[in-house]
Amino acid sequence: MAIRISATKLLNYGRCPYCYFLRYEAKIEVPQAIYLVFGQAIHQLIASFYRLTPEQQAKRLKRGLTILFPTSKQSAVKLWISLWEDVLKEKNAKRFHNPCKIRFRGKTKTEIEKEKEKYKELGASMIAKYWEDNRNAPPPVAPVERRFTVCAPGRYDVLLVGAIDQIREIPYGSGKWYIVDLKTGWQDYGEEDPRLQFPVHHDYQFTIYSWAFRRIFGKKEAGIIRYPLGWKGKNPITEEKIDKRVLVTPRNEHHYADLAVLIKSFLLSQNKQLFPKITGNHCWYCDYLEICSHPELITSQPIPVSQFDWGKVDIEIIREQLEEVAPLKKFSQPKLL
Ligand code: SF4
Repeated sequence: MAIRISATKLLNYGRCPYCYFLRYEAKIEVPQAIYLVFGQAIHQLIASFYRLTPEQQAKRLKRGLTILFPTSKQSAVKLWISLWEDVLKEKNAKRFHNPCKIRFRGKTKTEIEKEKEKYKELGASMIAKYWEDNRNAPPPVAPVERRFTVCAPGRYDVLLVGAIDQIREIPYGSGKWYIVDLKTGWQDYGEEDPRLQFPVHHDYQFTIYSWAFRRIFGKKEAGIIRYPLGWKGKNPITEEKIDKRVLVTPRNEHHYADLAVLIKSFLLSQNKQLFPKITGNHCWYCDYLEICSHPELITSQPIPVSQFDWGKVDIEIIREQLEEVAPLKKFSQPKLL
């Protein structure tokens, strides 16, 4: 019997095995961060934009309309607002996100309401932009959120399971198929510095998609498009909106070899029940941070470096110490004073 591994679980393990353990092995339910719930809702709505059948799309085109389900930017935004309101209703929680509670940054009721509003506005701007940028674009060439179950690299006893956001042919009719992954996060990897782009070009998520694509379609993808949603910001003087940047990343056999090692490590961890904590900046966003920091969260007051007190030199103490150490180290101590 083959072992099925979901891409989400594997990626979670890759970031921090202990986090994987808490979520999937110990099955501890904790509230989910609002930005994750938000990201899922945006993905769900964008996927629904492509729900028309080819016949319905052809009719729309004849009338000079978009093939996206909402016929205008306003109706796309309206759909978003109603979805976001539904997502936030406690009675709908299980339908949209699991576990059922949302974790907010704010503590008071007012802060939480502000946060919900902020995400509603952010979502509206992302949806409006996506609709505008894609209103005349050809539809994806495979079902959106295309599910896959494929053998893992180098192993017939392990199946990788997951879903790809979109597959697009660019230019349409060229035969060049790209994997598209939509991102709702703030990161912008457009800089040409290879060090800054490293996380994208070696992201296991994209490696899994590329591997699955080649198994499903029997051909090589033209690239993987990291498509960030929304605007980067506004020019403070002209008020003009600044675009984020799309990054296309390739995959090859070296990436698949890395993935094979990750899978092997995942299986060994399961076997030995060893799940080390990997701490880093990703912990800021971890839903399990409070549990992980057992017994209690430690905080300390940060001090500006210029105000850090190294203490005063006491020449007598230093001399005494050096004179004590000198005979042990068998070197002669030059006279200090
Ligand atoms: S807080 Fe950091 S170390 Fe702890 S489980 Fe989460 S990601 Fe891992």
